[in-house]
Amino acid sequence: MTTRTAIRTCPLCEATCGLVLTMAGDRVLRTAGDEDDVFSEGFMCPKGATLGELHHDPDWHRRPLIRHRGRLVQASWDEAFELAGHLVRAVVERSGPTAMAVYFGNPISHNLGGLLYAPTYLKALASPRLFTASSLDQRPKDLVNALLYGDRFTLAVPDLDRTDFLVVVGANPVESNGSLATAPGWPRRLRAIRERGGRLVVVDPVRTRTAELADEHVRPRVASDAALLASMVNVLFDEGLVRLGRLGEFVTGVESVRRALADLTPERVADYTGVPARSVRDLTRRFAAAERACVYGRIGTTATEFGTLTSWLVDLLNILTGNLDREGGAMFPLPACGSPNTRGRPGFGPPPRLDRFSSRVRGLPERFGELPTSCLAEEIDTPGDGQLRGLLLISGNPVVSAPNSERTARALASLDALVAVDPYVNDSTRFAHVVLPPPGPLQRSHYDVHFTTWAVRNVANYSPAVLDLDPGQLEEWQIMCRLAAAFEGRGASEADVDRRHAEMTARAAVSGDRTVEDLLAAVAPRVGPERLLDLMIRSGPYGDAFGDRPGGLTLATLEERPHGVDLGPLRPRLPEVLRTPTGTVALDPPLIVDDLPRLRAAIASAPREGLVLIGRRHVRSNNSWMGNVPSLMTGRPRATLWLNPADAERLGVTTGDVVAVATRVSTVHAPAEVTERVPAGVVSLPHGWLHEPDGVRLATARARPGVNSNRLADELVLDVPSGNAVLNGIPVQVTAPRADEHEQPINPLTLM
Ligand code: SF4
Repeated sequence: MTTRTAIRTCPLCEATCGLVLTMAGDRVLRTAGDEDDVFSEGFMCPKGATLGELHHDPDWHRRPLIRHRGRLVQASWDEAFELAGHLVRAVVERSGPTAMAVYFGNPISHNLGGLLYAPTYLKALASPRLFTASSLDQRPKDLVNALLYGDRFTLAVPDLDRTDFLVVVGANPVESNGSLATAPGWPRRLRAIRERGGRLVVVDPVRTRTAELADEHVRPRVASDAALLASMVNVLFDEGLVRLGRLGEFVTGVESVRRALADLTPERVADYTGVPARSVRDLTRRFAAAERACVYGRIGTTATEFGTLTSWLVDLLNILTGNLDREGGAMFPLPACGSPNTRGRPGFGPPPRLDRFSSRVRGLPERFGELPTSCLAEEIDTPGDGQLRGLLLISGNPVVSAPNSERTARALASLDALVAVDPYVNDSTRFAHVVLPPPGPLQRSHYDVHFTTWAVRNVANYSPAVLDLDPGQLEEWQIMCRLAAAFEGRGASEADVDRRHAEMTARAAVSGDRTVEDLLAAVAPRVGPERLLDLMIRSGPYGDAFGDRPGGLTLATLEERPHGVDLGPLRPRLPEVLRTPTGTVALDPPLIVDDLPRLRAAIASAPREGLVLIGRRHVRSNNSWMGNVPSLMTGRPRATLWLNPADAERLGVTTGDVVAVATRVSTVHAPAEVTERVPAGVVSLPHGWLHEPDGVRLATARARPGVNSNRLADELVLDVPSGNAVLNGIPVQVTAPRADEHEQPINPLTLM
């Protein structure tokens, strides 16, 4: 048997690991971590090892589907685009462009063609309402970035490989492989902190696998991080530990922050957080004294009712101790392309795009052109002017990912036009009128434009497609171009749309005496995403400037170096990284500070009675997808309700019992797993599981359905400043139902 080796970056999560695939024909015989990859150095997780299995998933559609007599049936691409164009144009003609919405799921961020060609159809739709998975898990961070540094994607990431004191708040990178901080091999990097004499502190109510690696595990009450971190900032002021250092040149609003947090002492909030005041003071002192320290917060800090305040306080701790933009602190990456902060006037930029319009039903303000996904269903199912009647779903599964799954499902089922770009008929796309499947993961080239902008080291990796398209398949960017043409309805060809888009990209890359035509000639004969990528890299901070900077980076350089190009450790970038109207970092944005009374009210209210629900991650899961890959679905049951032994005893529940978990919006039944990983008063369910198999064409996932925590999340409860969903800290009632009350889809015996 003839074999060959293919090297590629894993496109499945933010970690961007290098993989080595041993291929025989179109089959993957073996997958290993690429020891020579400049960033991942051999690391991969169990998901990466299944890339071939995912590619050959028989439920991954290779041909378009259209709805015919109530069923999704295979069709030609021409038929599918014609129907998509017809349905969408009919919605726009009948009700105007704002009757169409677009929803982006997370996988689009890992997809070169899908990501770079999104502007084509967004432009063709003229004025769509935009919803994304960002308002389910990271919008608070976006908002803080925009208000402090001038762009929502200007993110300070932990300088993981040089820090001596890392405080991880509400994050479990050992399971998630990291998020909003691209770093392959988090477990190894975390262990290395301790090996070089540093300290790892994990702040999390749950004893996670990340907490098990830590020197210290602080267990606050669920969703009390804002109060805890506010009290740490308070200690910095109270004990004279504020040390801005060189940041003093760029930072304003320090006194304003001191006043705003003056009453939130560790002693005052201790009952609310459950963390003794002396522990908070001690931790803060040691953090402030460390030479190279950083606080890193993730989904446990963002998908909560005080997500924006918590995210702001994470940055305040880094700034006020002088650890922002310092080696070993929180630093701003400088990627080869895609950076939001390398164009325009260094240091200065316009005000962030906020509050220009509101949602129709609840009046929720837009953030960066997007409305909260928590209001997607009501915008569809509430009659009246401006009601959404059409939706373009781009690699998204909001029925599983958004709060109140049942309402979201009913809303999607009622649409006049639902067009999906997705390989699967899943919980959401089962309602589609048209499904346009992209090629498999081995048939796409890859460059992680998005996540290299948040990487803990500056790197660039390009991977060509491993396999050719099958006859009759289209590349994702081709699907996007043809969709744009179908929405326009003016007979443009795929090449016309691609050319227009390349001209737009070239216009952004032009400098000096060169013209758009010069730049397009320089990257010819490339077309599609590679043409755009070459334009972006060559005009980027390391690029060859189309010949003006000999030896600079081009796409051809990356093609010659399949293990990637190391562009070095993060370097200080203040103040040029800023794009704020004042050219400074104003620590006291009114939009955030004005939310403090809401936190004070929560602190002052009586302690919450009863149980609260939080989500959890598992290394073998990937949000709402990959549940159809058989080798990721083996092993112990994972869709269990974790509950503490004390609560289990009070409720009369033992491991394996099926319990009912109820909120305002739904009731689910899940097998209990009694564990001390969660403290008393807290229960945990994973998210992303297929729960309602009707109409779903996912054989493996249907055979092993699970309980999806988002089915219980309430779409009416939000982090107010950002509009982010609250997926952690949901009050729930748990009861052990009688045997005759059990819901049928979840049978614990089939899961064991
Ligand atoms: S950690 Fe992420 S990028 Fe790395 S192998 Fe796993 S899924 Fe792929």
